[in-house]
Amino acid sequence: MQRDHLLKQLTENLDKIWDIVVIGGGATGLGIAVDAVSRGYSTLLFEQSDFSKATSSRSTKLVHGGVRYLAQGDISLVFEALHERGLLRQNAPHLVKNQAFIIPSYDWWEGPFYNIGMKVYDMMAGKLGLGPSEKISREETMKAIPNLDENQLNGGVIYHDGQFDDSRLAINLAQTAVENGAIVLNYMKVTNLIKDVENIVSGVVVVNQEGNNENAKLDEYRIKSKVVINATGVFVDDIMKMDNPSAKKMVRPSQGIHLILDKSFLQGDSAIMIPKTSDGRVLFAVPWHGKVVVGTTDTPLNLDEASLEPRALEQEVEFVLTTAAQYLKKDPKREDVLSIFAGLRPLAANFSDKEGENEEEPSTKEISRSHRLMVSLSGLITITGGKWTTYRKMAEDTINKAWMVGGLPEKRCVTHNMPIHGYVKNTDFDSPAYFYGSDRAQIEDMIHQNQMLGKRLHSDYEYTKAHVVWGARHEMARTVEDFLARRVRMLLLDARVSMDMAPEVAQIMAQELGKDEKWINSQINDYTELAKGYILS
Ligand SMILES: Cc1cc2nc3c(=O)[nH]c(=O)nc-3n(C[C@H](O)[C@H](O)[C@H](O)COP(=O)(O)OP(=O)(O)OC[C@H]3O[C@@H](n4cnc5c(N)ncnc54)[C@H](O)[C@@H]3O)c2cc1C
Repeated sequence: MQRDHLLKQLTENLDKIWDIVVIGGGATGLGIAVDAVSRGYSTLLFEQSDFSKATSSRSTKLVHGGVRYLAQGDISLVFEALHERGLLRQNAPHLVKNQAFIIPSYDWWEGPFYNIGMKVYDMMAGKLGLGPSEKISREETMKAIPNLDENQLNGGVIYHDGQFDDSRLAINLAQTAVENGAIVLNYMKVTNLIKDVENIVSGVVVVNQEGNNENAKLDEYRIKSKVVINATGVFVDDIMKMDNPSAKKMVRPSQGIHLILDKSFLQGDSAIMIPKTSDGRVLFAVPWHGKVVVGTTDTPLNLDEASLEPRALEQEVEFVLTTAAQYLKKDPKREDVLSIFAGLRPLAANFSDKEGENEEEPSTKEISRSHRLMVSLSGLITITGGKWTTYRKMAEDTINKAWMVGGLPEKRCVTHNMPIHGYVKNTDFDSPAYFYGSDRAQIEDMIHQNQMLGKRLHSDYEYTKAHVVWGARHEMARTVEDFLARRVRMLLLDARVSMDMAPEVAQIMAQELGKDEKWINSQINDYTELAKGYILS
């Protein structure tokens, strides 16, 4: 997966009429590209920044049916998500781990109550279940989570869900798409839609964000296609406005934040699930890459506040710290936070047809997490809502619609049992670089041939120079941020340490990508500025 090579393939075939062009390289768009190309449709995907730069690298990292949606009575979503959870674990066993969760109970009725709920959850998962849930005693609960607050603890309920690495799955999906014949390009922004005489969408105008021509027009390409799919998350309304300036709004962004803490705050292998916090949501504390992810929140935002780099609000930070402190022996303080990140859910809201009416309601935590698919009169297909867990089903539904809209030959979806790049069984999830899956052998081979590449980027972490080279050569990492934030997860795991790594990463990437000293310096500056936003002052 090399950007220069893929861009050349595109620019040498500018007259080609593609079957499917996908706008957006998050979970939704990448899933659609994999589905489309594996059915045999010629497929192109454009991402304006890096793959999964937006929401898809900022999730809680759960592959789950959604216990909360069960409580809300959204049964069809839970069925669908549990089924997809099972398929994803089957197709990407190098990324999806079976994670035990404990719901601590402090009132006598909570144990039996949650036990019944979780039995229903198990039943709904059917054959693809990850293990039976059960009620456990106070002693068993404390053994599983030694630093849970034991004051008035009655016991708990243990259940199983999936846990994964979101941006790694995104990169692996991009690789899977390319291996099947698609062109996927990061740093390519769609700036307009092309329409034919009958006002039907027949392509896109796309601008290479890496171009350095003085004349911006030289970086602009007009791409023709039979179907255009808008999978741009919280930005879907921008693309819909290109199609129809008076298009109705589709998305209601809702912000969720996470804090990363040292593993000493949550000893043992189990995660905690708090089923009902003071704001009526659930809160998770989950072990991840040797640290603990704690979150999340559900804060409605206006569309004009949607950005690629959302920032946590003070009240969200306070809420997560205070709620976590109620359940943990050791209260987390601001100075304990290794990194903080925010993401925006692209919720598919029901807005009124009348301008101004019903624009504020319902509250975002009550909006269903199901996906919504819409075909505009121009033939533009827009998909929004959903979850990382259900990306495959979202893609299947979208392409089932796309072949009809584009007059393409009908072809059946083949992703149910399709291994995703990196597929390898019996993953040792305790090994720091486990998420490279089947690519690990090649990275180790590189080190074997050049011992210098085995040097660590930081004494406390096992990521090496070889991982940087691999990211630039085979995973389309184009900037220091691409590598430190999404090829490995250092920005999220420890923002300060990641800043220390940045100069060496910039040096290695410059060598790989043929960049000069000026590029190195600007990359270090840009990265340092960005990482400061992940540190809680
Ligand atoms: C706080 C939080 C926690 C979550 N936790 C979970 C979880 O644990 N499990 C789960 O299953 N789901 C979870 N989700 C939901 C899941 O993360 C999202 O549903 C999913 O990532 C959305 O993916 P997407 O591709 O639709 O959007 P995005 O990931 O936002 O992708 C859209 C892409 O489109 C690109 N784009 C926009 N405009 C253009 C343009 N003009 N040209 C080219 N590209 C463009 C953007 O740069 C972006 O990369 C969570 C979400 C949040 C916010």
